[in-house]
Amino acid sequence: MSFYESVVDEVTRCLAEDSHNESRIIERLHHIQREKGDELYQALLYVLTHLEFSKKTAKKHWEGIMAHRREMSEILGREIGLRVAMCDYFFNVNKTLKNPIIIEIDVFEEARRFSNTDGLTGLFNRRYFQTALERELSRAKRFNNDLSLIFIDIDDFKQYNDTYGHLAGDEVLKTVAQTLLQSKRMIDIACRYGGEEFVLILPRSPKSGALNVGERIRRNIEEIKPNPKSSRHLKKAITISGGISTFPQDALDVQNLIMGADNALYSAKRSGKNRIDLFSIEKRRFIRVRVDKPIYYRIVDVKDEPLHEGRALDISEGGLLCEVDRVIPAASTMWIEMRLPRSQKVHSFLGGVVRSNGGKHQQHHAGVTFLRMQQYSRQALSQYVGQALHQHGEGEQ
Ligand code: GH3
Ligand code: MG
Ligand code: MG
Repeated sequence: MSFYESVVDEVTRCLAEDSHNESRIIERLHHIQREKGDELYQALLYVLTHLEFSKKTAKKHWEGIMAHRREMSEILGREIGLRVAMCDYFFNVNKTLKNPIIIEIDVFEEARRFSNTDGLTGLFNRRYFQTALERELSRAKRFNNDLSLIFIDIDDFKQYNDTYGHLAGDEVLKTVAQTLLQSKRMIDIACRYGGEEFVLILPRSPKSGALNVGERIRRNIEEIKPNPKSSRHLKKAITISGGISTFPQDALDVQNLIMGADNALYSAKRSGKNRIDLFSIEKRRFIRVRVDKPIYYRIVDVKDEPLHEGRALDISEGGLLCEVDRVIPAASTMWIEMRLPRSQKVHSFLGGVVRSNGGKHQQHHAGVTFLRMQQYSRQALSQYVGQALHQHGEGEQ
């Protein structure tokens, strides 16, 4: 791509970004001009009218359009749109063009709505993220692979914006996007989730692998040297925080996977920022204690399903291993009722089946991750696991 083409490209993206906020667009265009020089005027006029001008003429027209816009706004007492000013300028003020065609900025907006990428950073956008995650998750289920998600949020970004301005903030977003692209594996999918939040989809990746990638990104960003004098560099060093969740360990569907990573991100922020946290970081969650209790369960989404009986074999704060008399396919959702030992209360859990295999005598084993439960059940479970560990002085990892 030539330099001029890259300016045209940047102008196109700038116009597509937010077609309804023209003052912001104009501010950004001037920023590009300061960076790239007068090619900006040439590229801009080309994008908006599809006519080629010399740099000098293009600049003259643009300044004329801007002046005309200010004048019209003053006379009419309201903000005049860029296109209106431009049309009026070419038809009534500077009649050098025979038949000007002015491209509507809304056309860019339209293009943007159907696009998969984010105008500022060039990463995939949120719309694409949703589709990609659904696709990758069903692939992970089909091939029995792990899949991880990393949510990333810039630390104290509001302060950066407030100190150095929005345009400098935008440079940070571009820098973070670049670092994501350089730090991820080929098959990982990097998206701008919104504002200053990014998300990476890591197919075929267990938690440990995701943590490697997340840590690499965190370090690479922390190590970028600022240069307060340059508009292309960071004004001051920045950091990010991240949260990781993994299928099938933490969640079985898109929504819960996103929620899990978001929770982990929140925990990273609470714990002081500039760190990557895993969902369910408490190891305690995975420590299992033996139980031997009847359970009653129903597979959610199967119509008119009666309650079946099974047995809980062990339990942790994160899930349950149970013995059942049928094969329950992985990724099914189960509604489970049980009493905890030494308690009269019945607790209900919504769980996702993460493992399913044969047991003894026509029995099958199902490993279930808890998806939802009442607060009082969570407390009772936590208390029970704690006591059992205390009594036996051990648990199983
Ligand atoms: P924390 O460490 O808790 O994440 O603090 P924070 O200041 O980053 O938190 P918060 O999420 O409240 O602030 C996000 C800020 O990001 C608010 C907004 O000014 C800024 N922001 C969001 N989108 C953009 C954008 O496209 N460009 C720029 N320059 N700033 C943006
Ligand atoms: Mg944020
Ligand atoms: Mg932030």
